[in-house]
Amino acid sequence: MFIEVAVDAKSAADKELAKKLVEVCPVNIFATDSAGNVTVVQENLDECVLCELCVQAAPQGGVRVRKLYSGEVLER
Ligand code: SF4
Repeated sequence: MFIEVAVDAKSAADKELAKKLVEVCPVNIFATDSAGNVTVVQENLDECVLCELCVQAAPQGGVRVRKLYSGEVLER
């Protein structure tokens, strides 16, 4: 695993954002649970292409992608 994706609690419970994240991520790292909340699909994390579409789709600080090999965090 080379990255970690963190969704803050407020964004995780935002059902509209959940749909948007599922839509924008090209490698299906986001999914929704039965309540419509955002979940991170751990087994797909290695497919991340670092496109930042999830970071840009979320409000400031909502989604952060951390590169575990360098410690760099993609966020806005
Ligand atoms: S950076 Fe791109 S590929 Fe990686 S989780 Fe976000 S949307 Fe998906």
